[in-house]
Amino acid sequence: MLVIENLVAGFEGMEILKGISLKVKKGEIHSIMGPNGAGKSTFSKTLVGHPEYPASSGSVTLDGKNLLEMEPDQRAREGLFMAYQNPVEIPGVNNVEFLRMAYNAKMAHLGQEEADPMDFQDIVREKMGLLNMSGVFMERDVNEGYSGGEKKKNEILQMAVLEPKVAILDEIDSGLDIDALKVVAENVMKLKNENTALIVITHYQRLLDYIKPDYIHILSHGRIVKSGGPELALELEATGYNGFKTEAA
Ligand code: ADP
Ligand code: MG
Repeated sequence: MLVIENLVAGFEGMEILKGISLKVKKGEIHSIMGPNGAGKSTFSKTLVGHPEYPASSGSVTLDGKNLLEMEPDQRAREGLFMAYQNPVEIPGVNNVEFLRMAYNAKMAHLGQEEADPMDFQDIVREKMGLLNMSGVFMERDVNEGYSGGEKKKNEILQMAVLEPKVAILDEIDSGLDIDALKVVAENVMKLKNENTALIVITHYQRLLDYIKPDYIHILSHGRIVKSGGPELALELEATGYNGFKTEAA
């Protein structure tokens, strides 16, 4: 349902992604792995419509609709979600109100009933319960003063509320200790169902101990140099990224 063909994109005229093609079906988990600077975050930013990382050619469609001509908020309403590698702090904006606005924008788009503040409290409380998240994050502002692990947990709470068709998780493991990593990854798996596809971006194999991908793609210098099944992660652990760079050359 997400079809990416020959996507070329970059920053200020720099070509960072040099022709990426990928098909992600309903319910599948794809992992994009690659060394620092390979273009992983650029890939996710271009998909969600970050204005500084536009596509210069190629196509991206979600259920047949052209995502590249949509504004970022429109892409989100269509069911695309991204958990940021470095989530931004938004002082002065209450976490629950923020979630409610996003939720209601999506409901309005789908022609479904919007939630008032009281109803929404119940929705969020249920999701927070599922994710073992403390209720204090209902009172606090979006990411302000959260620890690294709390920020990542909050990204996954957003995913829980928005129930996307495709969730892109950009290095949700970065900056987390092993216990926090386990909690965040387990939360992702609680939300995983046959209607949600995941694109899990990571540098390290260890995340894939918890989130088991169906397919792995190795990204190097803006190109997918190898795709395969879960065994590719183990191969990678043995050889490192250098083995794959040579293969691509
Ligand atoms: P990854 O997430 O795989 O570590 P990125 O997509 O963040 O890689 O970056 C890919 C390449 O593009 C890097 O060489 C990076 O320095 C460059 N790049 C990305 N964004 C910018 C930017 N805003 N300014 C300059 N270079 C950038
Ligand atoms: Mg990155």
